[in-house]
Amino acid sequence: MAKKISTKNVIVEMDGDEMTRVMWKMIKEKLIAPNVDVKIEYYDLGLKKRDETDDKITLDAAEAIKRHGVGVKCATITPDKARVKEYSLKQEWKSPNGTIRAQLDGTVFRKPILVNNIKPGVRTWTKPIIVGRHAYGDVYKNTEFKVPGPGKAELVYTDCSGNELFRGTIHDFKKSGGVIQGTHNTDSSIRSFAKACMEYSLDQKVDLWFGAKDTISKTYDGTFRDIFTDVYDKEYRDKFSKAGILFNFTLIDDTVARIMKSEGGMLWACKNYDGDVMSDMVASAFGSLAMMTSVLVSPNGWIEYEAAHGTVQRHYYKHLKGEETSSNCMATLFAWTGAIRKRGELDGTKEVVAFADSLEKAALDTVENGIMTGDLAKLAEPHAKKICSTEVFIDEIAKKLNSIWK
Ligand code: NAP
Ligand code: MG
Repeated sequence: MAKKISTKNVIVEMDGDEMTRVMWKMIKEKLIAPNVDVKIEYYDLGLKKRDETDDKITLDAAEAIKRHGVGVKCATITPDKARVKEYSLKQEWKSPNGTIRAQLDGTVFRKPILVNNIKPGVRTWTKPIIVGRHAYGDVYKNTEFKVPGPGKAELVYTDCSGNELFRGTIHDFKKSGGVIQGTHNTDSSIRSFAKACMEYSLDQKVDLWFGAKDTISKTYDGTFRDIFTDVYDKEYRDKFSKAGILFNFTLIDDTVARIMKSEGGMLWACKNYDGDVMSDMVASAFGSLAMMTSVLVSPNGWIEYEAAHGTVQRHYYKHLKGEETSSNCMATLFAWTGAIRKRGELDGTKEVVAFADSLEKAALDTVENGIMTGDLAKLAEPHAKKICSTEVFIDEIAKKLNSIWK
């Protein structure tokens, strides 16, 4: 008989949609509930409930994370026109992830799950590379203009009393037209981003790397560099030195070159566009979307765990038809273990942390022993011994867990 423990404090649970909702339930029932009594505050962020509550439930869930500090979220549908029809929605509700991120002023970090039978595309990467993407401003909130012909483009700033404090020529279009673009960021958003990165580096006990193009963009990228350096010097230098980790700022091209030659094992903080591009590169080099976790960290230390992938809609429709699916629950499982471990660390309950470690080990051992879902079987070396349905895979993890967690 396995020992049964309980968490001291609450984890905010946010349920979701489609195939991930199906896996969510299995993970809870087969892997967690038999071993740990997790104190839960439950929010159903399934699309139906969001529609019923006019999406108030998403805001309530975000508030709950602020109260309890730790949340775990299942993937959810961000509705488009087709979903409005499919679910007869009152409107095209906003992305719950976007809403929660805005409420917590959080930064998203993506971290791959590594197993020894799936080799990363880059040979030297033996440790996970965590990518933190600044999710505000730059080209994603730009103003652009297609210049039709000769004329002058200027950058003008007027303060709120109407004084023109700056006017600079972007370009004098002499012979023909072209394009112009205006982008911005705010000091407070950059500062929050820097703090979230430093908090998460400390949490993960990994070095923090940040690169920007401050030699060319002396003011714009230079401001990112200055704010990061300021936050580090004032609030984190001592904490980093106690934890034995480093912060280094270099030119973005140098950062990229050094990442490629590294063994991994760092947090790579990226400006918005760099993060958009680099997180997809890093994710695909590590193998599979189903092995990528995602963590939302607020500068206040509130933290929410989830899988990086969506609700795996294609598999869900097969599931609804009664067909067996081979959806991979690893990232969703690691969202749960991340939240449970964090709860244990915050509460000082060693056995709760040990359970999270054991469950992760059981899942990793299962895959490394050649038992896996179809997506991983395509990548595994040596070949998979057994390719399982979602449910059988979870049962295999449960078997392994029973032999570890006694
Ligand atoms: P998706 O759920 O990420 O799935 C895309 C494809 O990736 C799947 O069809 C499958 O490939 C593969 N895949 C993803 N996760 C997998 C897993 N756990 N196991 C095995 N294969 C996996 O993206 P989507 O189908 O384009 O989006 C579905 C819904 O998810 C959308 O409504 C979107 O709004 C939502 N979404 C939510 C989040 C979130 O809540 N964090 C993030 C992204 C998208 P094969 O079909 O080739 O097997
Ligand atoms: Mg992208």
